[in-house]
Amino acid sequence: MLIVRKYGGTSVGDADRIRHVARKLAAAWREGNELVVVLSAMGKTTDELIAKAKEIAPDASKREMDMLLATGEQISVALCAMALGELGVPAISLNAFQVRMHTTSAYGNARFKKIDTERIRHELEAKKVVLVTGFQGVNKYDDVTTLGRGGSDTTAVALAAALQADLCEIYTDVDGIYTADPRIVPTARKLDEITYDEMLNLATLGAGVLHNRSVELAKKYGIPLVLRSSLSDAEGTVLKEEVKVERMLVSGVALDKTVDRVSVAGIPDRPGSAFRLFDLLARNRINIDVIVQSAGHDGKQEISFTIAEADAQTVEKLLSENRKKLGFDSFVIDRDIAKVSIVGAGMISHPGIASKVFEALFNVGVNIEMITTSEIRISVIIAKDQADRACRAVHDMFITED
Ligand code: ASP
Ligand code: MG
Repeated sequence: MLIVRKYGGTSVGDADRIRHVARKLAAAWREGNELVVVLSAMGKTTDELIAKAKEIAPDASKREMDMLLATGEQISVALCAMALGELGVPAISLNAFQVRMHTTSAYGNARFKKIDTERIRHELEAKKVVLVTGFQGVNKYDDVTTLGRGGSDTTAVALAAALQADLCEIYTDVDGIYTADPRIVPTARKLDEITYDEMLNLATLGAGVLHNRSVELAKKYGIPLVLRSSLSDAEGTVLKEEVKVERMLVSGVALDKTVDRVSVAGIPDRPGSAFRLFDLLARNRINIDVIVQSAGHDGKQEISFTIAEADAQTVEKLLSENRKKLGFDSFVIDRDIAKVSIVGAGMISHPGIASKVFEALFNVGVNIEMITTSEIRISVIIAKDQADRACRAVHDMFITED
């Protein structure tokens, strides 16, 4: 089998961990598998490099930042190749330049365009374990780029697609995807399987677990992705297009406390008002999630929507500057809200899920301020200080303990 494996920063955090990874790789190699292994930077290396840059230049250019950050992954692959050598396993480390992993030019946030496979294939034919730097690429100027924080997952999936690998395994410090954050919901349990779409919708649940782009790529190329722990032998979670029929209705409950609500009052109640407002936000790359428009009266209406907390300042500035042009009276940004979402591919064919969500929230006295639904997701906006309680109530309404 041709297997692409990725190990995250914690899994290669120190010399012992690297030796541990090398032993696992040696065993898989001795079974006759071809291995392409993507590594992240050791432990907190990337954070430390960012801190170092800040000491020198708080506003360093993105090009130089990428040049700096890409060094972390190079340390990991070289050390791991040495560890394999010590075990008598032929191995070679390669960076993005040597492989030729072509990306767009956007420093700090590049996307893969094309990955050459010649060099890797050549090394595999020579029976070597091939260790490839995660997180980095090369752009058309022959400059080093990075894919955004957590991007090594995406390197692994992109390589699996380019090499048409039989399997892509992401080894991390958690043992899979859970039905909710176990720190908040004690009854949360590990999922054996989840669909790509569910995983993408559970982005906030999966935050830090998988780079979103890696899931998009896996879906696009139909790469079966397994997420599992490098510290235990527990079966992980398999991500795929469809999961078995007798599945749960709801796969997971996600809680996002990093949202704010913007309410714009006194908007002219006529065609084009909403367009002008959201067009302004879209042009400034503000992502909007839940939108609620009230019934108009006296020729005016109110529109509320949620944004990422990180965008609040920008939105405040945009709305203040464009109040006259957009013709509204006033706006407020409410920071004390949270979003609870349930996600499940099984919801498409089951009516009545929304009312069960509302019942769960009613049972624990939580007021719903906004609602949005899609085929496989229902989200409610509630007060932030009730969020944990709401999350537990909704979770336990749908997901029972084993
Ligand atoms: N080392 C990079 C980061 O910390 C990439 C990764 O770990 O996936 O974001
Ligand atoms: Mg990660």
